[in-house]
Amino acid sequence: MRIPERGLGREEILGALEARKAHDLDWRSGRVWGYVYDPGPEAASLIKEAFTAFLSENALDPTAFPSLLSLENELVSMAAAHLRGDENVAGNFTSGGTESCMLAVKAARDYAREVRGIAEPEIVLPVTGHACFHKAAHYLDMKLTTTPVDPKTYKADPRAIADAIGPNTALVVGSAASYAHGVVDPIPEIAAIAEERGVLMHVDGCIGGFLLPFFRRLGWKHPDFDFSVPGVTSISMDYHKYAFAAKGASVILYRNKDLRRRQIFVGGSWTGYTVLNPTIQSTKSGGPLAAAWAILHFMGEEGYLKMARTMMEMTGKLVAGIDAIPGLRVLGTPETNLVAVTAEGDLNVFHLIDEMNARGWYIQPQLGYCGSRENFHLSVNPASERWMDPFLAELRECADKVRGTPPSEMAGTLRDMFKDLDPATLTPETFRQMLGMAGVSGSALPERMAEINEV
Ligand SMILES: *Cc1c(COP(=O)(O)O)cnc(C)c1O
Repeated sequence: MRIPERGLGREEILGALEARKAHDLDWRSGRVWGYVYDPGPEAASLIKEAFTAFLSENALDPTAFPSLLSLENELVSMAAAHLRGDENVAGNFTSGGTESCMLAVKAARDYAREVRGIAEPEIVLPVTGHACFHKAAHYLDMKLTTTPVDPKTYKADPRAIADAIGPNTALVVGSAASYAHGVVDPIPEIAAIAEERGVLMHVDGCIGGFLLPFFRRLGWKHPDFDFSVPGVTSISMDYHKYAFAAKGASVILYRNKDLRRRQIFVGGSWTGYTVLNPTIQSTKSGGPLAAAWAILHFMGEEGYLKMARTMMEMTGKLVAGIDAIPGLRVLGTPETNLVAVTAEGDLNVFHLIDEMNARGWYIQPQLGYCGSRENFHLSVNPASERWMDPFLAELRECADKVRGTPPSEMAGTLRDMFKDLDPATLTPETFRQMLGMAGVSGSALPERMAEINEV
């Protein structure tokens, strides 16, 4: 494709863009359990307006746009207070959880090198820790060791972490909460071990950090995870998940400025302007900052508390409803609005997911890994309230319908054929062949994904 020779009209362009959405998830229906965090139409239109008002302002240089600096400072300061940090806590606004976590890893790596003289700093991460830490290790060329979790609660095992810490460990990570099972790791125990061993500790509060303090006020119990816990040295928290900000909004916080300093990049060794980047992005829109600031002021603590109450009640209803369906079981005991559901006996979880998706629900498959059975993930939103009863009713119908469907033969055949294949030697040709056998050609995915998920 080439850039069109002549420009098109406004209506034509906007119409063409709208038409592109035809096959996207219809998240406004509310029948979508993931990806979109929907605060309702009034808040959504405010976010859009705030975003576009700052769309062209560039957060590259805070001296040129002091408005953006003040928005960032306030967003960081509100996050620090929300997570019980004192006046020493310092941080930045970032584009998302991945950037926040990557910066925490980078700061820990450089702290280990500069303060402890470790040449090749390493990370210790429970198997339930988010994949972005593997990505950080990959990008920053660090070794990462995973540790097992409790097979019933899916929480990190502090003793396994203590065993995994070695002389090169720079950082241990705990989740509050974990994405897959919605549980909070025993942060006080892990942080005490980290502190005793002279290792930094990051709490990944990307998805749970914002709502957990509200849930606690409503009486839902979880371990302490914030700056009130000695030994916690950094926390990531996304505004673009359950604070309902526009996408591109997260914060990374450090216990003090000395730690934060290690994430900053300064570069003057070229012929252009001096680069002073506290975060990974350089040129960036002011839109996400303005939209995040707008939604926090629109909702206020009162508004979030009200939404948290709805989500807490709906999660309770969801868990009870699922437990009442034969063959379905919730993994662990969710401490936030995230639920993992597995199927047992003659009920195949992937066929159930396909059946629900065919009826217009979107639920997310999670593959089996390290003691966590294959399951599907549900993120409860305020909008879920309208759909809870029909969802549970249809889930029961679909479970009845697919119960007894045998596991796919093709999956078994493929597994046998490729069981000795080393992924590192997988050529594009072999990969195309595998996809072809699984019914995938070109860029089109099959309607039903059960067999692919099984493989
Ligand atoms: C979503 C998430 C991340 C990554 O955040 P992105 O905004 O998708 O980059 C990291 N950790 C946890 C626990 C998450 O849920």
